[in-house]
Amino acid sequence: MTPLPTFDDVVAAARRIEGHAHKTPVLRSSTLDQRLDAQLFFKCENFQRMGAFKFRGGFNALARFDAAQRKAGALAFSSGNHAQAIALSARLQGISAVILMPIDAPQAKIDATRGYGAEVVLFDRFTQDREQLAADLARERGMTLIPPFDHPDVIAGQGTAAKELFEEVGPLDYLFVCVGGGGLISGCALSARALSPQCKVIGVEPEAGNDAQQSLRSGAIVRIATPKTIADGAQTQSVGQLTFPIMQRDVDDIVTVSDAQLVETMRFFAERMKIIVEPTGCLGAAAASLGGLPLAGKRVGVIVSGGNVDLQRFSQLVGAAP
Ligand SMILES: *Cc1c(COP(=O)(O)O)cnc(C)c1O
Repeated sequence: MTPLPTFDDVVAAARRIEGHAHKTPVLRSSTLDQRLDAQLFFKCENFQRMGAFKFRGGFNALARFDAAQRKAGALAFSSGNHAQAIALSARLQGISAVILMPIDAPQAKIDATRGYGAEVVLFDRFTQDREQLAADLARERGMTLIPPFDHPDVIAGQGTAAKELFEEVGPLDYLFVCVGGGGLISGCALSARALSPQCKVIGVEPEAGNDAQQSLRSGAIVRIATPKTIADGAQTQSVGQLTFPIMQRDVDDIVTVSDAQLVETMRFFAERMKIIVEPTGCLGAAAASLGGLPLAGKRVGVIVSGGNVDLQRFSQLVGAAP
């Protein structure tokens, strides 16, 4: 079995992405600090390249390719931020990339992925098995498949987000991180344990898809049907073989928030902090600000994971009556 990544791997990833990934800003809100009687620090990955933290893991994974892998190229299947992360990272490193996307993916996402220079191969998710398709492509063309979360270099890369946060603001009492497949939270938990050992790491999932919460509580990976939620980056069916043991060891708890709370948080970010955050990117902030946890007097970090939401969808969500 693949060895679990460690904080040393996060440090190595930080060196690899330096000068390529943005060092994203940490924003504050005195309104929210007053309301919660706490100090909140928002690590804003919506300002990361391609609009989400996934650039960190994607770039790190590709930077570790040997000469043969670089020549044959990278392969990913995703209709979301991972596709754009691999496409952009590959272009920056002079590597070719093939992205498998469902034929019914939003045209804007297909165009964005092509715009970063990747070859997009469309498949029908009702009649074709994407894992089989990816395996065939990997074999035929010798390409290396980079999964969206369950890969040591991806996890280590994502951990650089929290590493930067702790280095900038110092130790924290809590760190709130959204959870899909668990790549972001497991990497960030490695950084928390190393840089702020007392910090409680809290994962946040959509209410409709609390598979990671169920998994941590039962001690075994629980698989669910694709959940119905506006948090499309957290619609994963289960956590991974690598992310789960790290979460078991280093994550303190997992909480959930409703879609209505995500919308309220999107509105707060737009109105008060003047930033556009996609629904999934609001999970951590929604739990911290609306979750009723006892945060008074505490120093609280929140990873804001991404900002990729098209404006029509954004206005539809935030414009609806609360
Ligand atoms: C992928 C993604 C997540 C979930 O990350 P995992 O590593 O799968 O847990 C959260 N937010 C955004 C914006 C994402 O793109």
